[in-house]
Amino acid sequence: MLEWLPERYLLIDCGMEQGENDYVMSELPVPAGMIEYVVLTHAHIDHSGNLPLLYQQGFRGKIYATHETVNLCSIMLADSAHIQETDAAYQTKKNQRTGLPEVKPAYTAEDAANVMKLFRPCEYGKIIQIDEGLSIRLTDAGHLLGSSFVEFFLEENGQKVKLVCSGDVGNTNQPIIQDPQPVAEADYLLIESTYGTRLHHGSGNPIPLLVSILDRTFHRGGSVIIPSFAVGRTQELLYFFREIKQQHLLPFYSDFPVYVDSPLANEATAIFLQCETACLDEDARAVMKEGANPIWFDGLHTVVSSEESKALNANEKPKVIIASGGMCEGGRIRHHLKHNLWNEKNTVMFAGYQAAGTLGRIIYDGTKEVKILGETIDVKAEITLLDGISGHADQAGLLNWINQFSKKPSMIFVNHGDEDSCTGFAEIIHSNTGIEAMAPYSGSEYDLLKHEWIRLTAPVYKTHNKKAATDSDVPANKKETLYRELLQAAEMLNNAVRDMKDHSNSEIKSMTKKIRDLMDD
Ligand SMILES: [Zn+2]
Repeated sequence: MLEWLPERYLLIDCGMEQGENDYVMSELPVPAGMIEYVVLTHAHIDHSGNLPLLYQQGFRGKIYATHETVNLCSIMLADSAHIQETDAAYQTKKNQRTGLPEVKPAYTAEDAANVMKLFRPCEYGKIIQIDEGLSIRLTDAGHLLGSSFVEFFLEENGQKVKLVCSGDVGNTNQPIIQDPQPVAEADYLLIESTYGTRLHHGSGNPIPLLVSILDRTFHRGGSVIIPSFAVGRTQELLYFFREIKQQHLLPFYSDFPVYVDSPLANEATAIFLQCETACLDEDARAVMKEGANPIWFDGLHTVVSSEESKALNANEKPKVIIASGGMCEGGRIRHHLKHNLWNEKNTVMFAGYQAAGTLGRIIYDGTKEVKILGETIDVKAEITLLDGISGHADQAGLLNWINQFSKKPSMIFVNHGDEDSCTGFAEIIHSNTGIEAMAPYSGSEYDLLKHEWIRLTAPVYKTHNKKAATDSDVPANKKETLYRELLQAAEMLNNAVRDMKDHSNSEIKSMTKKIRDLMDD
């Protein structure tokens, strides 16, 4: 959250937590109705997924994002709302059997539809004045179609400050989209750190590996099942399959069929097909010039209905099935895993990062059996990873991007990574560039004009067990939720105590007494 004049508030992204987070996140410091703007870097749910919730809580301001981000959000937020509603209905049904109350979804399809009306589509490269003392410019971040870096030009009482937010920094040489573009100047930089302490392996061209995976699986008479994120990764895979077919790289199985079994992925593919050519990289434009489509080919089938989805497993012809979700936490992929994991002819090919605690990670780590949709399934299929594709810049890529600034920031805030990546990358930035860098915990505050911390919070760890290795259908239990609320309340108390420093002696005494009474209670 950015406060750019006294009590004027803006959010930079509004994401939903994906997978496991080690920490309790602080609440928004002001009511949602007081937030006037959101600037959205890109459409991924971990950046956009709580916008409908913000709407439900009273936000009625404007949301700035590129045209492509707006188009992708229209399908992704609707899909996310559907998941919230389905999960809540499932949990309610379960609760009814034990006399527990109804579970309300975090937000509904209506919230998602309503929040879409608040979007203001923007173009790359244009300075847009949003309000007094507040302008922005979006630059292609090369991470996902429509993704952007945001430059904030801020002015307060004649003092100017420029903050740059990276959102997610793209990887170079990704198919379809452009490489991340440089940004010239910053007083402050807020940067992600997903791969802050790691380097990508391989040549950056995954096609030879993909060809060998397909070849040996088809040779066994099996199919390749790919859990994939619907938006971005699926379209990249289609690009690779088109290349393989167009360049005859798999001569014995050249007519292999590819099924995309995800309504969301198919809608996203349609958005990719209609995007501005300015968003595409040179290779994709060259394919189009030859009259071909970069992500469409003979043998590509889009599966829409659940009947079509079920029919796929009845047909034994070797094929590729791409289904979401990318970490196997939900979506149609679980049906395909249930029908294909037990058979050693098949391959399950992961095409992206698998977060700790997810079903995808458990399978990837080599479990011998797994419980899916209520059934225990032997894991006999080949489990493999298509290495060398990532939407994120690695450590070298992030440092390169930082080094492109002609006017270097005086301070870099590091976020959006596992704890080791955040703190590790902050140290790496400092030792490589000499720039002060810091990875603050949730709830910390910094004064951009005075160049000083207002508040640095301590981490509040969630103290629950890792998700059970078996059933991803089971939502967090009630006790865990209650305990998390207790931890949050304790943090609020801790913050209230910190804020008492300048209060009068009697107020401090009174607070001390209240806490002592509470503990004696
Ligand atoms: Zn992203």
